Amino acid sequence: MNRSCDVLVIGGGPGGTPAAMALAQMGKSVLLVEAGSGLGGTCLFEGCIPSKIFRETAQRLRDIALADQFGIHLPHDLVQLDWHRVQARKRKILQQRSEAAARKVSQLKRLQLVFGRARLTAPQRAVIEPFEGENIEVSFKQCILATGSEPRALPVPGGDLPQVYSSDGILDIDHIPESLVVIGGGAIGIELAQIFQALGAKVTLMERGPRILGPVDEELALALEQHLISQGIRLIVNCSVRAVCEADEGLSVQYDLDEGGYDQIHATAVLSALGRQPRVQGLGLENAAVSVGDHGIVVDEALQTTTPDIYAVGDVIGQPMFAHWATAQALALARHLMGQPALFPKPEHNTATIYSSPELGMAGLTEAQAKAKGIEVGVARYDFSQDARAQITGYDSGMLKIVYNKTDHKVIGVHALVEGAADLMGEAALLVRAAVPLEVLASAIHPHPTLTESFVVAARAALAERR
Ligand SMILES: Cc1cc2nc3c(=O)[nH]c(=O)nc-3n(C[C@H](O)[C@H](O)[C@H](O)COP(=O)(O)OP(=O)(O)OC[C@H]3O[C@@H](n4cnc5c(N)ncnc54)[C@H](O)[C@@H]3O)c2cc1C
Repeated sequence: MNRSCDVLVIGGGPGGTPAAMALAQMGKSVLLVEAGSGLGGTCLFEGCIPSKIFRETAQRLRDIALADQFGIHLPHDLVQLDWHRVQARKRKILQQRSEAAARKVSQLKRLQLVFGRARLTAPQRAVIEPFEGENIEVSFKQCILATGSEPRALPVPGGDLPQVYSSDGILDIDHIPESLVVIGGGAIGIELAQIFQALGAKVTLMERGPRILGPVDEELALALEQHLISQGIRLIVNCSVRAVCEADEGLSVQYDLDEGGYDQIHATAVLSALGRQPRVQGLGLENAAVSVGDHGIVVDEALQTTTPDIYAVGDVIGQPMFAHWATAQALALARHLMGQPALFPKPEHNTATIYSSPELGMAGLTEAQAKAKGIEVGVARYDFSQDARAQITGYDSGMLKIVYNKTDHKVIGVHALVEGAADLMGEAALLVRAAVPLEVLASAIHPHPTLTESFVVAARAALAERR
């Protein structure tokens, strides 16, 4: 079977789906191909949503543990976790969201969705192997590659043992492991380590570097390490895993010590959280002369690959790997392909949350990144232990850092470690994107008692110090 379209979009995640929908709404004929069972990509099926659903259960357990403080006496032996119900709730939400996405797509006349695997065969041709029916030969004017990323394998002997899970695998696990070694102290490793600790596993977190969360503000990352330790997670840094072996009751993770020699830890399960790699295998990139570099598909500032009219967005072009980042790229690219002015997202405007406990939110540059750019940096601070809202909720530790340019007082970064930081990042994104001066921030009335007051108080304090 043959088909032609203006734009072929390969991958139906947070990059591909919004690009396809926006282009169809603006008048292009679009063919969207998705190799999974539904629309939503990693974000919906193996990433943002399922991990946060589990985190919510973990958070409820933490709340129950704090209940006494709130005058509620709950016998702890009455609290039981029904993991099968947690998994069932997850599946239901995933299905609802995937169906809702499919409904929205089906309302667009110019957009056709095919479930199957697509591969480029030439610079303006591809073949789709659908789940049902014969192969489809597609000719297109333009193509967007949005095939995302996949977990990196653990490259040591025993890294493929059945009790060694990737982040994909552990989200489908049918029990809470008695003990879990998490290898990798990045965002995914931290989130899942704290979730499984709260759900009842005894967790050890291993990180090769000297601290967790390498690119994150150092002060906040070190403060988060203290939270991990106080929650009962064993943290081992500066260690390099050399092998995973079957042991009497589970696995033994062997790791090299900085000072020489090696040690080992026993656990019933291992989570390999070494980060993700762009999904480029089997895409036929060589047939269309699309180059792949160390970090993923190579693109220019307008997201065009090394082949004219073939573009790429999202995880497949490398860091930062976030759903909102993929969508922002996709929407800018859609405008660009329509010949409209497009603001492609800039790394210095990115916003992200690590759903640790407490949450760690960041927008724009860290203090260190700003200094490395030669900016004269000031930092406005706030201590959440004095905060009314934080005291009321019982999650009353944490800090906010507003990084600003000392010459014009404009905000260039916001970093917060506090339960609720995720919801502070919307305002933080705007402060950074609009380069709001501290004077304006300090005069914007924020409601009391909310965590958002921290922005105003920090700005006022920083300005007062300068007088
Ligand atoms: C555990 C975990 C937690 C995360 N939490 C967050 C979070 O809280 N917030 C956040 O912003 N980000 C989070 N992320 C990252 C986020 O999921 C990704 O950045 C985002 O999904 C990337 O979107 P994408 O469209 O580029 O790729 P994907 O979402 O990976 O989508 C790519 C799609 O392409 C399809 N595909 C691949 N090859 C083909 C082919 N040949 N033909 C057709 N289809 C193909 C795949 O099936 C997939 O559906 C998390 C990730 C993980 C693993």
